[in-house]
Amino acid sequence: PEIQPIINKEEMESFPKLFIPGPTFVPNHVMQSLTSPQIGHRTAEFSELMSTVVSGIQKVLYTNNHVYLASHAATGLWEMGIQNSVKKGILHTVNGSFSSKWASVSKDCGHETGVLEYEWGKGVKADDVDAQLSSGKYDVFAMVHNETSTGVFSPLEPISELLKDKYPHIIWLVDAVSSMAGVKIETDNLGIDFLLSSTQKAWGLPAGFSVCAVSDRLIELSKSIPNKGYFLDINVYEKYYKKMQTPSTPSIPHLFGLKYVLEQIEEEGLENRWVRHIENAEYTRNWAKDRGQSLFPEEGFESPTITCIQNDMEWDINGINDQLLERGFRMDRGYGKLRGKAFRIAHMGNVMKEDLTEYLNNFDEVLNG
Ligand code: PLP
Repeated sequence: PEIQPIINKEEMESFPKLFIPGPTFVPNHVMQSLTSPQIGHRTAEFSELMSTVVSGIQKVLYTNNHVYLASHAATGLWEMGIQNSVKKGILHTVNGSFSSKWASVSKDCGHETGVLEYEWGKGVKADDVDAQLSSGKYDVFAMVHNETSTGVFSPLEPISELLKDKYPHIIWLVDAVSSMAGVKIETDNLGIDFLLSSTQKAWGLPAGFSVCAVSDRLIELSKSIPNKGYFLDINVYEKYYKKMQTPSTPSIPHLFGLKYVLEQIEEEGLENRWVRHIENAEYTRNWAKDRGQSLFPEEGFESPTITCIQNDMEWDINGINDQLLERGFRMDRGYGKLRGKAFRIAHMGNVMKEDLTEYLNNFDEVLNG
């Protein structure tokens, strides 16, 4: 018999379509891919499923590194990265809420933690990183690629050049939570040791699952680090990875969901996908500028997945929010201290040009209303 959703169609459609930067919009055909059979996680069919998912993710990340699948939010992978790498000290760049939280996690884990702090809205610069790393106090460097709180995107290429040139021994951890699968990240060419994301952003799946790509030298380094606990120990992951399994019982629906999304990505084509995200970002930036607003990030650091708009025109963001909700759209009103002063529009994952124009047309009608 046909599977009936627990929530009926009307109820499903009563929830607003999401244009917030995570969780992002998941259309029904993607949701349905999670309505999968349960399979034993120590079986050949599971290993086959995991192998398909892992090799698909490796293609999206341009890497041969091992890809681990974790049945929890990306915050846990922050700790995995730190606890398997730091011996001497870790340098964090901080330019928004998520990068700040990651730095505080390192402190809470008891590591010698340095912070290179930027004003919100500014991007990470290789020269500043150089000045900090030259102190010799650090063996690990951690940064957020796409600061979701501010829509600031810090290109990885200049950092990669710096690390290859002057600090080849430094382990490089990159949070790509709101850029992975929406932006081209050539992991192996860049030399990233630990690249992490969760599934509710540009992967376009529900939250509660995360993925990371781990370099061989980090796997090797982890062996020499004691007291990592069990749940986030890379060596434990590695033991099961050899059998194409996860250490503990995983969220099987997420694996089926990833398999489906990877097929969709394959169909779209990787280069097309990167171009779509850039074009949708440009469209949104121009939309904002044409209406007298400016962009919150400093020039050259605007995100391809989230546009953060400075509210120069002093639009009534709460009023717009209420009206968009009535029309069936969930907007963002600005993160934390930016509430009302700068707001974000997410255009990643399953958000196609038609979805974006539908949203922005409705936004216009509310503005002109
Ligand atoms: N890092 C960034 C840049 C984020 O935007 C988020 C969540 O929004 C996180 C980390 C935390 O991700 P999760 O909620 O999956 O733990």
